[in-house]
Amino acid sequence: MATVEHPPSTAAESNGSAPTETIAVENPATGAVIREVPKMNAETVRGLVERARTAQPVWESLGYDGRAALMRDFRGWLITNRSRVIDTIVSESGKTREDAQLAELVYAADALGFWAKKAKRYLGDERERPHSPFLLGRKLVQRYRPYGVVGVIGPWNYPLTNNFGDCIPALMAGNTVVLKPAAATPLTSLLIAEGLAAVGLPDDVFNVVTGSGGEAGNAIVDHVDMIMFTGSTEVGKGIMARASERLTPVSLELGGKDPMIVLEDADLERASNAAVYYGFSNSGQTCISIERVYAHEAIHDAFVEKVVEKTRRLRQGTPEGFASVEVGAITVEPQMEILERHVSDAREKGANVLTGGRGHSENGRFFEPTVLTGVDHSMAIMTEETFGPTLPIMRVHDEEEAVRLANDSPYGLDSSVWTADIERGERIARRLDTGGACVNDALLNYFGTEVAFGGAKESGIGARHSREGIRKYCQSQAILVTRFAPKRELHMFPYSKGRSKLIERFVVLIFGRGSRRK
Ligand code: NDP
Repeated sequence: MATVEHPPSTAAESNGSAPTETIAVENPATGAVIREVPKMNAETVRGLVERARTAQPVWESLGYDGRAALMRDFRGWLITNRSRVIDTIVSESGKTREDAQLAELVYAADALGFWAKKAKRYLGDERERPHSPFLLGRKLVQRYRPYGVVGVIGPWNYPLTNNFGDCIPALMAGNTVVLKPAAATPLTSLLIAEGLAAVGLPDDVFNVVTGSGGEAGNAIVDHVDMIMFTGSTEVGKGIMARASERLTPVSLELGGKDPMIVLEDADLERASNAAVYYGFSNSGQTCISIERVYAHEAIHDAFVEKVVEKTRRLRQGTPEGFASVEVGAITVEPQMEILERHVSDAREKGANVLTGGRGHSENGRFFEPTVLTGVDHSMAIMTEETFGPTLPIMRVHDEEEAVRLANDSPYGLDSSVWTADIERGERIARRLDTGGACVNDALLNYFGTEVAFGGAKESGIGARHSREGIRKYCQSQAILVTRFAPKRELHMFPYSKGRSKLIERFVVLIFGRGSRRK
């Protein structure tokens, strides 16, 4: 791979006053250390949040149009510098260039334009006509104002999309942002900070924290005004508990175990291509990747045959350029242990590993794309989030069994149903306890930024995208304006029997008409 040009880690590093403790960033596809970044402590994080808070009013005062212009300029920078952005993502995550191009660069470029255009409409004042007779003639307005400083804590699987991607609506709403990427993948976020500065983003509006979850992550939770977190369910619950100390609002996108239901009338060629692509792209390290498949018994064997054949053709290794490999590395070491455990547990309980099943960590971390059959819900690979290149396929007798098993999970992120009967597919999709569902597709609903996407059950709280995905970064305010009114209203002090009687008559007149009982 070509040498990647990395930006300075922080302002402190550029002027030589960086903290001495560092974090080594490794290329997971080669095992080589590519860069050291400062390991910021809680005090440094507190200082960054304070600077972000000071910068916020000026940023907000630019207005939607001013902020949108900067976002569009930055989109131009992103596209001009696309090779460097992709190189950086690939170097720290070990994913393929195609994974970095489509699900990261394209997502971010699209999101920048989307929020630049929509923020003003989604957050503009909403004037409502009061229904209550007590508010007659008054002006009633719903207003959204930014919380102040938003803390975004992101994972390693999408260093751009699930990190800066969540900062875009937060910034467009008028907040300043403190972003903590995963300790394993901080370089993309640092590059984004460099690009934003290059297009003229004012100082301290976008701040990157490099550090550990335990110290720097906790410090963010302790100081910011709102938290957007993407990562494991376990850490998400801890963040929500800690945030409750100050009643800081949180939005959490957590783990998933997304089911794919393949019915007897599905187009098996398309379904098998999708199973292999959406199961193994990004090495299966996507919160909404296909994690388990329920195939109707009438097509189970034919479907499995196609999936295995396509999986065996995949090339895996160190990504060198476009189209060099289909499947890259496993980004962080603990995932190897989870993968080994899930596959060996399934084997011990009687599953068949039809292809793959092994991993290695010499000169990079890789786990073979793995297809299993003969699986059931006694196995961890069908019930726990694996987050890797595994595709367990379970035979089901009918649609009802498929729906019951798909819903038999603590998670509820995304899901998919495959059938030639579109109405049947949509009917089944609506029965799945998941925040998203696709018919004859998978994952692509994430690109439908017009609709809210969030997890059900233990997959999260709150949502990305749509009105909901930007209003969550705002405090709503109910404004009432009274222009013409008497000096003293009927309900004000001092109370009198006559006025109370009058109000009673008024109440009966207004609300009593629908009453049938005497
Ligand atoms: P974590 O949930 O541990 O990490 C996600 C982010 O949270 C990282 O930036 C991490 O920092 C930070 N963090 C960790 N602890 C705290 C804390 N106490 N307070 C504040 N921030 C904290 O995910 P892992 O990387 O450990 O992955 C574990 C599992 O989570 C995976 O196996 C997978 O199942 C799931 N996962 C789901 C993702 C999704 O997209 N929904 C993404 C990634 C993982 P640091 O990196 O420094 O630890």
